[in-house]
Amino acid sequence: MTVFSHKSFDDHQSVHFHADPRSGLKTIVAIHNTVRGPAVGGCRMWPYADDDAALTDALRLSRGMTLKSALAEMPFGGGKSIVIGDPARDKSPALWRAMGRFVESLGGRYVIAEDVGTSPADMEIVRRETRHVAGIAEGGSGDPSPATAWGVFKGIEAALETRLGRGEVSGARVAVQGLGHVGLALCGLLAEAGATLFVADLDAGLVARAAREYGATPVAAEAIYDQPAEVFAPCAMGAVLNDETIPRLQATIVAGSANNQLAENRHGAALQRAGILYAPDYAINAGGIIDISHEGPEYDRTRAFAHVARIHDTLLTIFARAKADGVATNEAADRIARDRIANRQPHQATV
Ligand code: NAD
Repeated sequence: MTVFSHKSFDDHQSVHFHADPRSGLKTIVAIHNTVRGPAVGGCRMWPYADDDAALTDALRLSRGMTLKSALAEMPFGGGKSIVIGDPARDKSPALWRAMGRFVESLGGRYVIAEDVGTSPADMEIVRRETRHVAGIAEGGSGDPSPATAWGVFKGIEAALETRLGRGEVSGARVAVQGLGHVGLALCGLLAEAGATLFVADLDAGLVARAAREYGATPVAAEAIYDQPAEVFAPCAMGAVLNDETIPRLQATIVAGSANNQLAENRHGAALQRAGILYAPDYAINAGGIIDISHEGPEYDRTRAFAHVARIHDTLLTIFARAKADGVATNEAADRIARDRIANRQPHQATV
């Protein structure tokens, strides 16, 4: 396993490997960039097949956080942590306290929050060891998923406006992949706005719930790409837009919450060639991080959600830049984010 010559290494400022044998903690914390502020980013717990898969995720996700925060004009840099383990079996208070101590040792350069496989309850335990934690219920904004879902919803409106000339979700057909914290909340918003839903998840209980509560049509996990929908909303894992799936898509819009949706950067251009408007993942899924930026004793949900709704305009800006520059939308988003990082002076990270 390599780090500096790893294919996903992108001048990360630091990458930390830490083990705590007593609690079983094995973690990687990747701090990509702190030029705009402390590296805020969730902690993902997953039973990675090997260390390289875990490192790849940490490197890619932390870079994505830098771009996401810059694009959303947040005073944050980009970081991410990975805990190797099965969230259903390997969690313990001792493990989260050990994680908290390690985050504390980084002195505020990295601020942890929840992500796939971790919850606000886990972060409450982390908080006993460090104050560098976001997305907690008490004194914080709580689970960021409803804000993320709201941002995706506003992003879908922007994409419909651009692609179909009609920014209303009512009557649109949306295929939602993944019915976890974000996916299910998104289904609720879409159903309320009058969309028709096709849904898939590996958990049959969640699929049944979406069918029952939102009148969604259940679809086998593998068949979600083939649905006759205007919008494909990936809200599960990354790399779902690839050589095999893109030709199968009937949707002319891809807009969902999942991180790292493109298997490789070149798949952004492949979507463009296929006539599919892609809402870049780190632009459309910034609702959680925007919500976190409002954290504090004065937290006001209405104000935070109004800020999240501006994702709509951010996406319109990206779509316009892509058209003007003659590039794919993921490249346009990268250009805007890189400009914002370049125009900022180095920041000494503290929270
Ligand atoms: P989650 O773990 O609550 O839900 C993910 C769901 O996807 C699970 O129900 C899982 O069973 C399902 N799934 C996994 N593989 C699947 C497959 N092949 N087909 C169908 N379903 C599958 O996670 P979440 O918090 O809802 O996040 C979803 C995605 O959005 C992740 O990629 C996450 O990184 C990203 N994201 C989340 C937030 C947030 O605020 N939670 C913010 C930004 C980005």
